[in-house]
Amino acid sequence: MSVRPSQQMLKRSFITMVAVILFLTLVSTSSLVNIMILKGEEYQAKASEQQLYDNLLSAPRGNIYDSNMNLLATSSPAWTVYLTPNGINNLDDESEANEVRNAIADGLAPILGMERNEIYELTKKNTYYVIVKKKIEKNTVDKIREFIVANENLKMANYIGLEETTKRYYPNDSLASTVIGFVGNDNQGLAGLESYYDNELTGVAGRVVAAKDAKGTDMRFSYEKVEEAKQGNSLVLTIDSYVQHVCEKYLDIAVEQEQVQERGAVIVMNVNTGAILGMAVSGDFNPNEPFVLSEEDQALVDAIVDEEEKSAKRSELLNRQWRNKAVSDTYEPGSVFKIFTSAVALEENLVTIHSTFTCNHTYVVAGRPYHCHDKIGGHGTQTLQQSISNSCNPAFIQIGQLMGNDTFSKYFSAFNLTGKTGIDLPGEAAPYYHANRGPTELASSSFGQTFNITPIQMISLAATSVNGGYAVTPHVVEKIIDSDKKVVKTFSSENRKQVISKETSSTMRNMLEYVVENGAKNGIVSGYRVGGKTGTSQKMSKILSTGDSHLYIGSYVGIAPINDPEIAVFVMLDEPMGANYYGGLISAPVGSKIMADILPHLGFEPQYSEEELAKISIAVPDVTGDEIAVAKTRINSSKLTYKVIGKGETVLKQLPEAGSSVYSGGMVILYTEESEAQMTTVPNLVGLSVSEVNTVAAEAGINIEFSGNVSSNTVLSYAQDFKAGETVSLGQIVTVYFRDEASADMTEIEVSE
Ligand SMILES: [Zn+2]
Repeated sequence: MSVRPSQQMLKRSFITMVAVILFLTLVSTSSLVNIMILKGEEYQAKASEQQLYDNLLSAPRGNIYDSNMNLLATSSPAWTVYLTPNGINNLDDESEANEVRNAIADGLAPILGMERNEIYELTKKNTYYVIVKKKIEKNTVDKIREFIVANENLKMANYIGLEETTKRYYPNDSLASTVIGFVGNDNQGLAGLESYYDNELTGVAGRVVAAKDAKGTDMRFSYEKVEEAKQGNSLVLTIDSYVQHVCEKYLDIAVEQEQVQERGAVIVMNVNTGAILGMAVSGDFNPNEPFVLSEEDQALVDAIVDEEEKSAKRSELLNRQWRNKAVSDTYEPGSVFKIFTSAVALEENLVTIHSTFTCNHTYVVAGRPYHCHDKIGGHGTQTLQQSISNSCNPAFIQIGQLMGNDTFSKYFSAFNLTGKTGIDLPGEAAPYYHANRGPTELASSSFGQTFNITPIQMISLAATSVNGGYAVTPHVVEKIIDSDKKVVKTFSSENRKQVISKETSSTMRNMLEYVVENGAKNGIVSGYRVGGKTGTSQKMSKILSTGDSHLYIGSYVGIAPINDPEIAVFVMLDEPMGANYYGGLISAPVGSKIMADILPHLGFEPQYSEEELAKISIAVPDVTGDEIAVAKTRINSSKLTYKVIGKGETVLKQLPEAGSSVYSGGMVILYTEESEAQMTTVPNLVGLSVSEVNTVAAEAGINIEFSGNVSSNTVLSYAQDFKAGETVSLGQIVTVYFRDEASADMTEIEVSE
């Protein structure tokens, strides 16, 4: 299509002219010039729908990139097929007109997968432009073109038109879908960033203003004014695709393992700038097909007989899969909120890190008893640091009493917990809380119950507590660029408001590191200094409304490197129904695994202690092709062992493959002859200590990848990816998940009262 329109072409029918304008608009960005040429020709024709002009000059939508300029959303070509019924209606020969109508209906119906009569009705409309179908793809367009050519005798080119538009495309399918959102039929943003930044992304459609005929019915086709279409701007996110992928991976595993009923959420944030590096919600969707439910959800819909109920269920489930739980839902944060209570009490000099609090298991406020989760008579006398590590509610009730409602409220507001964070995503939920806390509300608020905030507020508050005391505005867009990649807008994290002093923040860092080392041990990450806090909150309002008392949220916030904080990870699992529900047992391990994977990627080098060095994984060297003696030496010097299968002289195949990570002392199987892989049976690897797992694995001839906390001596394995009894190749790597079963953390309040 490189032919310039000739004078003769321009003088043909209106239809041809429309085609030419479309052609020019598509092949040239200077449609203004081209249309001005047309106007210069004083060309006039009829038009009846403004929509035509709107479509002529629609602007291409901007892209969405991750922080490393990887494409997350873009636009690929698509076509709109339309008819020009008035061209048919104006034919002198009525029988010819009927023949054309029938041919179009019969021809297009099978190509477009539409009802024949639906198309036939369109051919009779009194208009020059009616859309048959939008967003059709190249192969369908080719079939339509073939049809037009094959029916040249009926001049089909005069009545069927194809208009090139774009279709939104998400190359990574569901990656970050609840953040990115999706678009509707007309490429309008309907959810997530696509909706929040719709104006930036859409650009400005060009306009052709036609002069109107005073009579109204058939407007004269004459341009008065033309405005160029302006391509939409593109978004460059703070989201890092690798970090996002890691968040989604470990969240999905946890949701499955812990039988989480109401989905889970993970957020990774830079504590100094508020930039969101990853934000995952389990049970999300593919934005290429946002209206497709998961198989599981679709089965729920299919099971309903009543049409109305079916449709209601379907929209409920669609809304659920689109919903960004990290931003749009509130929850009672539970013990993670003790970060706030500690920081305020320190800031107001009501306590020091050495202040002591006594817990005798039960503490009574205004006649109401509050019990500590420690069922063996309480924690006794503890320092502030020990109190937060023990997550002792009676201690925190006392700290709350020291500050009183006024001070509590003052900082609740200063930490921006009374309003929204202003994150650049749609549908941010507002918190709700008691403005005037009586003695019991103050007591339960001090350990994070009887008020609701969003996950994004919780991680922002944790960031402020360790980053020197500055409030941060969480955000997912780093900058906006135009079609020439020129920066139009940059997010600024300057002028941050100081909420607590640098000294208080420094004390908080020390305390939170102590918590991970002594209480929330499953937050430990080998090679890094980590601070954090776990929480297990009861879903009080749902418990009261349903009578089901086993409704919990297990959550965790971890920060690293805690001596010079950069990265915070928030994990929440809503309604875990497995054997465990404590945040310290189910959420902290997720945080630890995410940190272990993303910190090296983000440029933080691990520094292992001697003890840790003995326990870290080793990358298997590539010995395939090596002479057997060379291979043996290389494997031994990598602190691994080997087993040779066959009598050949060179290694033809190895298992695990080069680059796989296995535990120090693991076994590499070297095949020196073409032979079937030797098999073994996966042993039970659950409920064992680290050294027990090593012994059992060595006996079975498999390798172990350790996941989770293996740093403390009290850890036990709680899951394995290949099931016991399964047959696998000798040397297979089996992932075994570990955690410290001693961590427990509860903000249980008596439901019956
Ligand atoms: Zn206690």
